[in-house]
This record gives sequence, structure tokens and C-alpha cells, in this order.
Amino acid sequence: MVVGGGITGLSAAHELHQAGREFVLLESTDRIGGKIDGGPIGPLDVDSAADGFLARQPEMAELCVEIGLGDDLVRPSGGQAFIWADGRLRPIPKPSVLGVPLDADAVESSGIISESGLHDLREGLDGEQAPLTGDATVGEVMRPVVGSEAFERLVDPLLGGINAGSADHMSILAGATQLATAARLGGSIRDNLLVQAGESAKTPGPVFMGVNGGTRRIVDRLTERMGDSIRTGTRVEAIDRDGGAWVVRTSVGSEPAQQVILTTPAAATARLIEPYCPDGAATLDDLNYSSAVLVTFVIDRERIEHPLDGSGFLVPRDQGLLMTACSWSSSKWAHYDDGTHAVVRVSAGRTDDLRWLSLDRESVVAALASELETTIGLTGNPTVRVTEWRDSLPQYFPGHLDRVDAIDAELAKTAPGLVATGAAFRGLGLPACVRQGRSAARR
Ligand SMILES: Cc1cc2nc3c(=O)[nH]c(=O)nc-3n(C[C@H](O)[C@H](O)[C@H](O)COP(=O)(O)OP(=O)(O)OC[C@H]3O[C@@H](n4cnc5c(N)ncnc54)[C@H](O)[C@@H]3O)c2cc1C
Repeated sequence: MVVGGGITGLSAAHELHQAGREFVLLESTDRIGGKIDGGPIGPLDVDSAADGFLARQPEMAELCVEIGLGDDLVRPSGGQAFIWADGRLRPIPKPSVLGVPLDADAVESSGIISESGLHDLREGLDGEQAPLTGDATVGEVMRPVVGSEAFERLVDPLLGGINAGSADHMSILAGATQLATAARLGGSIRDNLLVQAGESAKTPGPVFMGVNGGTRRIVDRLTERMGDSIRTGTRVEAIDRDGGAWVVRTSVGSEPAQQVILTTPAAATARLIEPYCPDGAATLDDLNYSSAVLVTFVIDRERIEHPLDGSGFLVPRDQGLLMTACSWSSSKWAHYDDGTHAVVRVSAGRTDDLRWLSLDRESVVAALASELETTIGLTGNPTVRVTEWRDSLPQYFPGHLDRVDAIDAELAKTAPGLVATGAAFRGLGLPACVRQGRSAARR
């Protein structure tokens, strides 16, 4: 039995389906997909959360091929990304790895940081570091390498932005593997990252991918293929031991199960494993989640002054805007470009900036629309959709991977046949969720 109908649960179910195993997937809400969703807005159908995925981790693309969406895999335009800094959009300097700039001259030309920030950047990039042992925050490792100003204007907006958190609290091992690999080698982190960037440039294919028509199609296709094995409106409330197997108590009755894969968010998983794995439950209860809001604006292209010649922009926290990022979706993805409209997706909210939660929807939209007027010159009356993602993005603090290893070990010992996985565990990006779901099913 699989509990939770997000991408992790669907991937576990797909693995069982492919292997010809009997299973059922139970989802508490009336909608399959969890943190993947989308739907019509104005004349277009647009994702309201994940709109693409890392292609260098192949699991999501492989899944798409297996379910017949291989020909629909698309790459984004690959346009320039920008930073909003000191009243202007400025191109993110290249080369960089996860926001870490590797060429101080390029940063100087971008005008993103001050003279003194540049001085710190040059000194840090030229310096050498002792090899990283164990885990640390991205801030602890990378602030000395790029200086605080470059860290706050380039690294944190990207890495903190991805999960609506802060790079000063994020585990480098769990949240920024490429940086951790470079830091573990010690010496010149810039040189280590340049080698990595060189290797990665040799890998054919795009860095990101999406699905023509939107990520939601992956969920729809998986759901179609698995038919009656997927049940919505069925909330799992407890899992009781029954000899060597399990009885799953749900909002609509009880079901026997030989094995159970939990792919629910941390708090729900904690309640379900607590009788067998109290320490693991406490770890999951301590896991922080951030809340974000994603507001989609669709408007006639001519109502935006900016040419939108790129993928969008990030906003460092010191710029005082409500928005954290703005994606120019109709420039980034051909499937959102109908030739007349612009689609702009704006995010707000981070762990330490939850102003949007104290505003009503109209005020959130008004504030973001005003910031769009300032940043890209959007005027007029766009069609707007607000999607709230409360407690949706798990925050991995240092030691996270050891803590989830300990949950696995405790469960394996005390409750064989009961497995917990998903975004709260080893990666919240879509490929990591697919990998975890499939691997749990194989186990
Ligand atoms: C706004 C936003 C944008 C994102 N953008 C991207 C992106 O562009 N690229 C990318 O790779 N990743 C992105 N992510 C991350 C990614 O989408 C998520 O980490 C991933 O979808 C989580 O999948 P999951 O299956 O582990 O969990 P969820 O999607 O949370 O699924 C868990 C499911 O369990 C159900 N459930 C809960 N309790 C119970 C219960 N008791 N019984 C039964 N069911 C229950 C829930 O209703 C839910 O459907 C984004 C996330 C957000 C929020």
C-alpha cells in the first residue's frame, strides 16, 4: 500500500504497477498530485507550482519516457536570468554554480555588488579553504568564499529561493550537493567548482526540462495508467500491526496491507509511525516547513514594457520587495507562449519573511502587481490566480541526512514492512522524489 498521492507516492505506485504487483494508493484529498498542480488561467493552462525539473538527475525524465511522455519533454529557452538589485534588473554573472559566482570581473560588470563587496569576493575566490568534514550550513561554507555581499545578493536568492528558506540555515550536504563536493576537496573552492562546471558542460542535453503542456500532465498520465488502484478522499489515520503485516485505518474504513510506503509530509508521517518509531516521529515533528504563495499573472504582451528576454529574476532579501522571484514563464516555456499573452509567475514568502500570510489575497495581488510595475513595467488588468502553498517546503538543516538515516534504521528494526520517504527525506526536487518513491517500492 502507498500512502500519499504526490509525485513520490505516484512514483512508488508506478514502480509496483510496472512490476505487476498488486497495490493501492490512498490520498486524503480529492486531488492527486500533492505539490504538483495547475489548470486554466485566461486562455492558457499553467502549472501553479513545479513547472520543470533538473535534467541532470535523470529520474523524472526517465519516468516521463516510461509513461509515454518522452516526446513531450521540452527544454526551457535557456535565456538569461536576472537579479533585481538597487532599482534595476541586472544579468546574473556567469559562470556560476548554484548562484556562487566564479568570475569576479563578470560580477563587477553586472553592478550587483558594491566596491567593498567586490573586494571581499576577489579575496575569497582567490583564497583556500580547509576541506569540509561533516555537515554545515551553506552560509558557513560559502560566505568566506564569496564574501557576505555576494552571498546575500547571488547565492541566497537562488538557493534560499528554491525552497523559500535561507542559505544561512540550509544543510550543504542535503541542499547543495555540488557545493558540498567542492568544499570537501578543500583548497580553492573556485577552482573545484570550475572543474565541476567544465565537466557538467561536457554532459549533453539541457540542465532543466519540462513537459509540453505543463508538469500537471505527468500526474494525469500516471493517474490514468493506474486507474482504480488510486483512491482519493481516503485519509490514512493509523497503521496497526497485524502479525507480520498491517491494517491501515482510514477515514472510510480499514484495509489490510503486507507492506506500507508512507510518502506524506513530515507531520502526517510522524503521527503514523509514532507507535513504532517514536524517535523518528520526533525528528519529523522538528522538521521546519516554509510557506510560499505563487501568483500567476496573464496579460496582453504589450502591457509589459520589459522585453522579457530571459527566464526571469530573483530578488535578494535586502531589496525590501514582497516578491522573492519572478519567472517569465511564457519566455521560458514555449507551451506558455500563445503569441499574444505574457505569463508571469511571482513567488513570495520565505521562512523569515511571512508577510504575505498576514495579508488578504487582494492585498497580496495588489502588492505584487505594484512590484511588477516597478520591475518590468506591467500595467493594465491581468488575469490573476493565487495559489497558496502553506507548510509546503521542507527545510533541511545541517545533520538532516544523518537524521533521516536514523529514521530508516529505527523503522527497519521496529516496523519491518513500513517505509517512510518523500520530500521530507532526501531531496524535495521532483527527480529526487521520483528516485525515493521508486526505491522505496523496490525495497
Ligand atoms: C510552490 C512550489 C514550487 C515548486 N517548484 C518546483 C520545481 O519547479 N521543480 C522541482 O523539481 N520541484 C519543485 N517543487 C518541489 C516539489 O514539487 C515537491 O517537493 C514535491 O512535489 C513533493 O512531492 P511528495 O510526493 O514528496 O509530497 P506531496 O506532494 O506533499 O504529497 C504528499 C501527499 O500526501 C497526502 N497526504 C497527507 N496526509 C495524508 C494522509 N494522512 N493520508 C493520505 N494522504 C495524505 C497529501 O494530500 C499529498 O497529496 C516546488 C514546490 C512548491 C511548493
